[in-house]
Amino acid sequence: MNLVIQNLNKKYANGIKAIDNVNLEIGNGMFGLLGPNGAGKSSLMRTIATLQDPDSGSITLNEMDIFTNKDELRKQLGYLPQEFGVYPKISAYDMLFHIATLKGIKENTKDLVLGLLNKVNLYEFRKKNVSDFSGGMKQRFGIAQALIGNPNLLIVDEPTAGLDPTERNRFHNILSEIAEDKIVILSTHIVQDVIELCNNMAIIHNGSVRFKGSPSDALAILKDKVFGRFVEKGELESFKANYQVLSEKLNAGKNFLNVYSEQVLTSPFDKKQADLEDVFFYICRA
Ligand code: ADP
Repeated sequence: MNLVIQNLNKKYANGIKAIDNVNLEIGNGMFGLLGPNGAGKSSLMRTIATLQDPDSGSITLNEMDIFTNKDELRKQLGYLPQEFGVYPKISAYDMLFHIATLKGIKENTKDLVLGLLNKVNLYEFRKKNVSDFSGGMKQRFGIAQALIGNPNLLIVDEPTAGLDPTERNRFHNILSEIAEDKIVILSTHIVQDVIELCNNMAIIHNGSVRFKGSPSDALAILKDKVFGRFVEKGELESFKANYQVLSEKLNAGKNFLNVYSEQVLTSPFDKKQADLEDVFFYICRA
């Protein structure tokens, strides 16, 4: 599978340019779209899902223009939006069966639904109402509905926000299993999600792509340029004025600063191995 986005632009009626000349090429596997809140991730996801049209630019899936072939794209698409809306008081099995019927599946629906419930570890809860599911179970149910029809392109928007670590882990395992032979685009502001799952990624900020490549390419940007030290509370402001502070963290109750510097900083600064979070802060600092 190959998804190619070229010169894509979208400005909303309020003047906000949510997609600013985006160019991306995405192949099979998990692709992480990382950006802070308001960066334009959902706008881009909705556009790829053909739920909204861009002002200009093109998107092709295996060379097929998705905007002039929306029905064809939707047949190949699974989409898990950020908010799935209100869940009715019907069982997981009945709801999936209903969605499968709406998607035009007429044969072996029972086996398909049970297979999907099994895949997302909800088989034993199949008779339980979806409205009574926990957040993690609802997300896994969301993946099951998105997988009906065996899509080649799966889009998941901010899937792990609000999940506890166990649920998040389980969700990650399901996603990485699915991604073996299709494109899975994971949109998130959680750096750790991308580190754990994605072999390719982009960082977007204010609607434009600021980085694309592998997580290790991203780390290379900051090689030998991140330095860290503890500072006293009273010193925080002057450090912020004098250094390019990437992040401040509490470490054993003390403030630890990570700063970016082209020059080597000496003790009490220590050179630090940059992590993807540093890159994220560095790219999105402006
Ligand atoms: P993200 O998913 O990264 O949080 P969004 O795509 O939701 O970003 O939003 C990008 C920008 O576009 C934000 O400034 C947001 O307020 C604005 N925006 C999103 N949807 C609309 C809309 N329908 N009308 C106007 N502005 C919008």
